[in-house]
Amino acid sequence: AKAAGKDRVVWYDHTLRDRQTERIETVARLRLALGADEFAVYYQPIVDLGTSQTVAVEALVRWLPPGRPPIGPDRFIPAAEESGLIVALGEWVLRRACAEAATWHREHGVTLTVNVSPRQLTDDDFTAKVRRSLLDSGLPATALTLEITEGILVSAGTRSAQALDHLEALRADGIRIAVDDFGTGYSSLAYLRDLPIDTLKIDKSLMPADEDDHRQVALVRTVVDMARSLGLTTVAEGVETPFHATLLHTLGCDRAQGYHFARPMPAADLIARRVLLPHA
Ligand code: C2E
Ligand code: CA
Ligand code: CA
Ligand code: CA
Repeated sequence: AKAAGKDRVVWYDHTLRDRQTERIETVARLRLALGADEFAVYYQPIVDLGTSQTVAVEALVRWLPPGRPPIGPDRFIPAAEESGLIVALGEWVLRRACAEAATWHREHGVTLTVNVSPRQLTDDDFTAKVRRSLLDSGLPATALTLEITEGILVSAGTRSAQALDHLEALRADGIRIAVDDFGTGYSSLAYLRDLPIDTLKIDKSLMPADEDDHRQVALVRTVVDMARSLGLTTVAEGVETPFHATLLHTLGCDRAQGYHFARPMPAADLIARRVLLPHA
């Protein structure tokens, strides 16, 4: 800003203030929306690459303002995280998703996976809230996976120590832990060896464009091989084409999720569109 002319500094201050005001307004609207029950959980199938059956669903939150199209999480999760509102919103998503998935687990054998923001893992009551959601819904602990990003665990300090305590307690209950978006951060698989995790979700940015994308194919192969040697279940994200699905199956990846199989959908559509089939 020092090198910028007078006009530019004024322009910069103006947009900065606008953006701050916008953030504050967004948070105020989100808080009202949570009270008014304007959120919904959509579900995206996760498919077993061996059987092509849906074995799990990922809960993905949507904001449905009355009379307007659904708003995706990328447009409000950052503000919810910054303001701390993610703790209440995350708890709402967890309770709703467990309640909806309990029936699907009983009748169709599918499990549930829920995203957890780093801020939720520094909440003293997180373990208790998860246990309460399971008890109230009847979903067994072994049917729940929590998705976390690697950052919170690999950073040193009391925050990550508290996060680890929560994850270890929940894992002892039978809940599984997945590392989300693997391949977007800076940590290596070696870091993950000593962490309390069960599953690795390979980020969509790692998917090769086509069979000639040799570098990317080699990268995915390496990630799958190393994850398997660590005893982790592998789930590929962003599986958009038949080529992706075939490649991942060939490489020994366990599960896949993406537009090739299905987009995230409202709870009712999972049954109506026969995504969930009766127990074999
Ligand atoms: P994520 O956890 O990585 O979720 C996967 C995102 O990829 C979803 O976006 C999904 O719709 C999208 N996706 C699925 N298949 C494909 C595909 O084949 N190609 C492409 N290009 N994208 C695909 P969505 O629903 O917009 O969610 C965005 C992010 O918002 C999530 O990324 C997650 O980080 C966050 N999020 C969503 N729900 C929650 C929540 O309840 N709590 C928290 N803390 N974060 C959430
Ligand atoms: Ca996720
Ligand atoms: Ca992800
Ligand atoms: Ca993501």
